[in-house]
Amino acid sequence: SIPLSFFSAIGAISKKGILVKGANYVEKLTEIENIIFDKTGTLTHGIFKVTKIKTYGIKEEELLELAALSESFSTHPIAKSIVKAFNKEINHEKVSSHEEFSGLGVKATIQNTEVLVGNQKLLNRFSVDIPEEISEDLNVVFVAINSKIAGFIVVDDVIKEEAKNFIEELKRVQIKKTYMLTGDKKEVALKVANNLGIDEVRYELLPQDKLSSFKEIKEKTGKITAFVGDGINDAPTLASSDIGFAMGGIGSDLAVKSADVVVLNDKLDSILDAIKISKKTKVIVY
Ligand code: ADP
Ligand code: MG
Repeated sequence: SIPLSFFSAIGAISKKGILVKGANYVEKLTEIENIIFDKTGTLTHGIFKVTKIKTYGIKEEELLELAALSESFSTHPIAKSIVKAFNKEINHEKVSSHEEFSGLGVKATIQNTEVLVGNQKLLNRFSVDIPEEISEDLNVVFVAINSKIAGFIVVDDVIKEEAKNFIEELKRVQIKKTYMLTGDKKEVALKVANNLGIDEVRYELLPQDKLSSFKEIKEKTGKITAFVGDGINDAPTLASSDIGFAMGGIGSDLAVKSADVVVLNDKLDSILDAIKISKKTKVIVY
């Protein structure tokens, strides 16, 4: 049976802005040894800004309009940033078809023009060549028109202010290892992970790769493994983890449903609060 004080721990944790979905998770919270983080929207704010546009033989404004029209059906944070940068009314009637490729980008038909907006993997899939090597640690969104590269848009996301200190503090509550999973390319992933002192990072993952990476880490280490995500492309991993934390800020209904712990106030430090309160409670019980 579950000690009564675990229920009061849930109350104490809820005062910190965290919803724990059952008293059994109080015990689980004390046993976590690995924590795996999603990057975008979890360690970073998940709100992108367009910082640069480069075009090859087409006007900047024209490229941005085609990209914004193509992205206007997507809810991805990168799509939202491109629509916002366009900053004009979107005429959906111009778009006769659209398709999203999760972890890659979008494809749309706009007045008989086929537009691709996404990463290098998306262009590879449609056999579009990239003229110059762009190997910077920046999030580059390519735009191709009728199978030819037309330019690219650089978008930037910001690491949460408290993230670095938070990752350090985890070692003080006996978390042995931290991991980061992301769909982003290597250079962007390593920049964030190195900045924060994350122990191990896996990049260029499709949504289904996140789940298999999680399972692999869990099996390899045999330790209680938590996952922290925002529900965008990671709901199945939240649901499969020993204890899943959903960040509440931009988190979807799906994230809230899939998680065991919901961080309503969207603060990473709340995860520390939940672990500390649970550990204190357990010391009193046993
Ligand atoms: P993360 O793992 O960081 O949450 P995602 O799996 O959501 O990232 O996306 C991974 C990558 O896929 C992005 O960095 C971007 O290059 C590309 N991508 C996904 N959706 C879109 C989109 N709608 N427009 C442009 N690029 C996209
Ligand atoms: Mg994400």
